Amino acid sequence: MIRAASEHSDKPVSFASMVAMAPCALGLAIVTAVLSAALSLVPFWLLYQIAVMLLGADPDPAVAQHLALYALGALALRWACMALSHSAAHIGAFAVQRSLRLAMARRLGEVPMGFFAGRGSGALRKTLNDDVDAMEGFLAHMLPDAVAAAAVPLFAAALLFSVDWRMTLAALLPLPLAALSQLLMTRNSAARMVEWNGLQKRIANQVGEYVRGVQVVKTFGLSARSFAELADAVHAASAWVAGYARSSSAAWVVFTGLLSANLIVVAPFGAWLHQRGTLDTPTYVLFLLVAPAVLLPLLRLTFALSEQMHRREALTRINAVLLAPRLIDAPGAPLPDEPLDIEFLDVHHRYGNRLALDGVSFRAAAGRFTALVGPSGSGKSTIARLLPRLYEAESGRVRLGGVDVQDWPLDGLLSCVGMVFQDVHLFNASVLDNLRMARSDATLEEVVAAATAARAHDFIEALPQGYDTVLGERGARLSGGERQRLSIARALLKDASVLVLDEATSYADAENEALIQLALGELCRGRTVLMIAHRLHTIVHADHIVVMDEGRVAGQGTHDELLRDCALYGRLWRDHERARHWTLETRPAAVMPLSGGAA
Ligand code: ATP
Repeated sequence: MIRAASEHSDKPVSFASMVAMAPCALGLAIVTAVLSAALSLVPFWLLYQIAVMLLGADPDPAVAQHLALYALGALALRWACMALSHSAAHIGAFAVQRSLRLAMARRLGEVPMGFFAGRGSGALRKTLNDDVDAMEGFLAHMLPDAVAAAAVPLFAAALLFSVDWRMTLAALLPLPLAALSQLLMTRNSAARMVEWNGLQKRIANQVGEYVRGVQVVKTFGLSARSFAELADAVHAASAWVAGYARSSSAAWVVFTGLLSANLIVVAPFGAWLHQRGTLDTPTYVLFLLVAPAVLLPLLRLTFALSEQMHRREALTRINAVLLAPRLIDAPGAPLPDEPLDIEFLDVHHRYGNRLALDGVSFRAAAGRFTALVGPSGSGKSTIARLLPRLYEAESGRVRLGGVDVQDWPLDGLLSCVGMVFQDVHLFNASVLDNLRMARSDATLEEVVAAATAARAHDFIEALPQGYDTVLGERGARLSGGERQRLSIARALLKDASVLVLDEATSYADAENEALIQLALGELCRGRTVLMIAHRLHTIVHADHIVVMDEGRVAGQGTHDELLRDCALYGRLWRDHERARHWTLETRPAAVMPLSGGAA
């Protein structure tokens, strides 16, 4: 039943295609980098011409002055080209960065939730932040440098070759040896990069895990243990770096030494030719000045290439997001604005290898209140997630209004189904913005009316800036009950014809629970409601109750029918009744046991 959209996916992004994303800016950056490389050699060439002329038979100081001025002009033009190249590269890089992030954000909004289940949030954050930053770093900094580093040796070699081929060969002599040591150094480098990125991902996940769970860590005094896990990850990374440095340092020393020392060959060889009278002084000086430029920039090119290896991994992770199979959106007719019935037909679903739903079939009638009950882990929330296609069912049919949910347009489906989950997510934005997530064009009056109905208006008004108060990360400034009431207000504002409520009053105190029940009663009228409930007294009057057990439907019917026919429901109800009457007894002894008062 899963219909991945990989066949519709775009092509993978590559370094070349990134340049094509901002062709003008990055093209200009490349051309000006090449120009600047050529211009960097012009002053040397002109100085050489001056020397030849002044030491020749007919020296002319005026011509020498002119040539010197040209050299200065070439120098100035070179700096201008470099500045232009770097500016254009930055403009192009930021444009590419923006395009990549937008494309990834768009894709993340289109993939099923299963995509996130298999990834740590640290790894995904690393891809969206660090990996995209790495692309910007490559395009803005490395690209002009690498182009110049590749162009300068070519131009320098061509220039020197046109003057004296023997000296040019001498200048190039260390190159084969340097290439050999580079080859030794980069053996297994792709595999090493994979290892290194794995270590970094582990650190990012551990840091994220530690920061997110810091409250639990503190409560249970786990800091030493948790630090140890983080410290392990950091130690593993530093051991890797030490090992890498040990294994590659010798080859690296040889490589850098060879590239930066061709004068060791050029100087004595030139002196010998000069002594024999086959090399004039200006040519000798020209080689002493320019020969290092034949090899030294290759060092920078190596840095750029090794950086690119590192970035190739980042690019792979970016492509994993950009090419993630997305939910297929059906271009069908819009959903009717009326309560629709929900139907599950032999639905199976698993998370990885874990079977969560095993042939679930039931029907929630249009405009009626259907409750899902069952022990923890029996599959209730999974049912709720399949209806709006947060996850795709592995097999079977999930229907809304008689039509498979995959055949409704996704936007229409999502706006038709309103959800109130236990775990309410609020954004670090104002109360008003959080409520308007449900309907961006809602007027202030409509927002206030929804908040009032959800019994949230009073506490919102008591916040420092009322509806304009910013809630902090994940709504940190609110209690669980307050977050839940905001979630109900959001659902009210959305005015959806189908409602999925996942234990919507779980955080409410007794007084607020009664108020929220009233609000929910109002909210549910005339809609199809699917409510997951642990506290069974909230659903005794439901039109239909589906009892779940280990991913299967263990019974269906009204409260009375189930009490009569479904053993599991009878047990859940008795446990619930007993739990409601539990009291905490104070005894003179130090121990204060929980006792079942109603038992
Ligand atoms: P509860 O009443 O405790 O909320 P539930 O009846 O809603 O539980 P589900 O959340 O649907 O149960 O979970 C059904 C099974 O699927 C459980 O065994 C659970 O461990 C597993 N499960 C749920 N969500 C995921 C997930 N994202 N990844 C892996 N397994 C999951």
